[in-house]
Amino acid sequence: MQLEDRAIGEVTVLFGERGGKYPQGNSLLVRGAEETLIVDPSLGVIPRRAALPRVDRVLNSHCHEDHVAGNHLFPDVPWHLHEADLPGIRSLAGFMAIFGYEGDVGAQWVKALVEQFHFVPRPDAVPFRDGDVFELGGGVRLEVIHTPGHTRGHCAFRIEPAGVLYLGDIDLSSFGPYYGDAWSDLEDFERSLAQVREIEARWYATFHHIGVLEGRAAFLERLDRFAAVIGRREERLLAYLEEPRSLDEVAAHRFVYRPEDPVPFAEPVERRSMAQHLARLVRRGRVREVEPGRFAAA
Ligand SMILES: [Zn+2]
Repeated sequence: MQLEDRAIGEVTVLFGERGGKYPQGNSLLVRGAEETLIVDPSLGVIPRRAALPRVDRVLNSHCHEDHVAGNHLFPDVPWHLHEADLPGIRSLAGFMAIFGYEGDVGAQWVKALVEQFHFVPRPDAVPFRDGDVFELGGGVRLEVIHTPGHTRGHCAFRIEPAGVLYLGDIDLSSFGPYYGDAWSDLEDFERSLAQVREIEARWYATFHHIGVLEGRAAFLERLDRFAAVIGRREERLLAYLEEPRSLDEVAAHRFVYRPEDPVPFAEPVERRSMAQHLARLVRRGRVREVEPGRFAAA
């Protein structure tokens, strides 16, 4: 299986299978005069490990299974994540807390993290924070931009002089923003979308599907379509609440995944995602709790 790479100055995009469609993803290799980093080593990095140059550090945009699936290939170099996501890489229990799955779904997920995504805990992983810069030598630098919402510690990376903004799981896909984990936050995600909208770059790269976009116009078009999914979910929820409904009914109805999608963790993800929409519609007076546990459009 031959995977295509794409070089943009000192950055090489290591595309995963099928353009990095989940559970695969697109990783970045960033080469300076003194150091080489790998960003979000995906499952697609595993078969070509032997062909990679020496890697001095691993950076993860956030602690999710598909982004750390190749970390174990680099056991002897430091692993860096935002400080807010650090507990996830330090232990399996910490990793599980990010997702918040319980019962059978949780037990299945533990197995998947270890067997399918090769999770290896790393108690000495090194934190970074918003504004931190990795200087790789020869003027090559990577700057950390904290963009929470997808997880608490989700970050984008700006790489110069290549002019690449790597957006991680602000992935600009037609699925839309994902904020369905215990450590996700819808309104943080919305603030992060507004924040990255203002960042000028020549290239915009994401972990899944989209790969690399050239130029700001292409980026803004995709970003606005991606962000609009949030509003559509909320409008569909409002329409559904023409009749009084419980959160159980909302979670079963499916607003995030399509009803036919066989997603084992759909229920908790729907519940957490749509509970956040429900809470803010109540706050804004657009939905009322008409009897305990039942909600209707005002
Ligand atoms: Zn993610």
